[in-house]
Amino acid sequence: MYFKEPPTLLDIAIQCILNHEPLAIHALQEIPGELFVPLFTAAFKARHEKILSAMVKSWPFFCLHIGPLRMQRAQRKLWKVMVESLQLLPTENPAFRSPKLRILDLTQRPGCKTKCPEITTTCKPCVRCCAYSERSLMKVESQCSSSSSESEGQSPKTTMELLVSLSIDRAFRENEFFGLLLSKVEQSLGALHLCCRNLRIKNLSECGSALSHLDLKCVCHLAVVEASLMGVVSLLELAVNLDSLSLSKITCRSFNGRAFRNFLSQLRGMDHLKELSLSSFCLTDHLEHVLRVLSADLDSLQLPFCELSYSDFKFLSQCPQVNHLTLLDISNNSMYWEDYEPFYCLLENLSGTLQHLAINHCLLTDASLTVLAPALSRCSQLRLFSFSSNPITMPMLRRILEYLTPVTQLKYVIYPIPVHCYGRWPVRGSLDAQKLADVNAQLKIMLHEAERDDMCWITYTG
Ligand SMILES: [Zn+2]
Ligand SMILES: [Zn+2]
Repeated sequence: MYFKEPPTLLDIAIQCILNHEPLAIHALQEIPGELFVPLFTAAFKARHEKILSAMVKSWPFFCLHIGPLRMQRAQRKLWKVMVESLQLLPTENPAFRSPKLRILDLTQRPGCKTKCPEITTTCKPCVRCCAYSERSLMKVESQCSSSSSESEGQSPKTTMELLVSLSIDRAFRENEFFGLLLSKVEQSLGALHLCCRNLRIKNLSECGSALSHLDLKCVCHLAVVEASLMGVVSLLELAVNLDSLSLSKITCRSFNGRAFRNFLSQLRGMDHLKELSLSSFCLTDHLEHVLRVLSADLDSLQLPFCELSYSDFKFLSQCPQVNHLTLLDISNNSMYWEDYEPFYCLLENLSGTLQHLAINHCLLTDASLTVLAPALSRCSQLRLFSFSSNPITMPMLRRILEYLTPVTQLKYVIYPIPVHCYGRWPVRGSLDAQKLADVNAQLKIMLHEAERDDMCWITYTG
């Protein structure tokens, strides 16, 4: 029988408050500050828009991060409510207790706390303060305090930051939420800094006017889908503080042209770059040029559909920039070579750090995996290994499983359906469901015998 933990006194009190909306809003004037975070969390989860609005208006702390709360699609309406409730001018609503909120963070960060501790060891009052824009709270206030020390009696301007993740495409200009953000910025007469940390742009050539409202220096994670390399370069000239860059479906006319040279020089300047993803970006025999200019701290490298050649792999295995990767995705690059030594060396180099490896759809055969399996078994940090849609046989699949069961950190394996399950590999219509069920059953028995029931082996039939 399943016993649910009884609710705490605090849970009961919060539920009581939430069930009486007017009472809750009134109580915000009196309840102690410590109750704000649990009450906010409960009101957010239960989507009490009016209470949330009142809480933003009277938030007694410097910052408010929705990061730890899981955002469902329907909950986006709550963002709107919260942005609308931002008190940009102190006299806007005297009914509420004077708000201290200066940073509203609408970005998703699972590890983040709802508010920062009041006393931090760093000089920043909030871990997510903008450090780059001229319009940031810290820069504007330091300017104000230096100018007010010159002219006594002038109080510093109340500034605020609104941290958001945005996904921009051609229809975005009409997007209601973006319209609201822009009108809030306009209303604030320069007091509100719209700080976009995560930016995804689809169809760059049609997004220029939306981008003109943002300070690209603030962006940490940039993803661009469908653009010319020249367009990407002009974006990177402004987005100079990236931790993560993802480019997909980028057209590059020539590796000898100005656009590619400028692209490399922009990459060279990215000292903080930790994650690079280039997808559907044909780099045959030119991966070296891209990797050479990167900083040595790259954590994550994704190169699906890049038409990588044997010489690209050879370089990858010798490149110091990729020696500490925790994630490598080289799916959808055909690897039907005679010599797998470079790939083997790459896995050896990464054996102490690699946590996620994806080599789906690479035309890897029994012969190639026979070479790679010993190196895979030495990747002691591996947690997820995906090698689906490769033409291998059942004996090889069993062998790989034997190699991988001693890797104790490894919990998820996405395996290829062995070729004997198909009438004609890899035609989906020719797949024999019974044969696949037998494969699943055999793997399950093997995992049980190896005492690795904690490991999950799954496959895709789609
Ligand atoms: Zn904070
Ligand atoms: Zn900013």
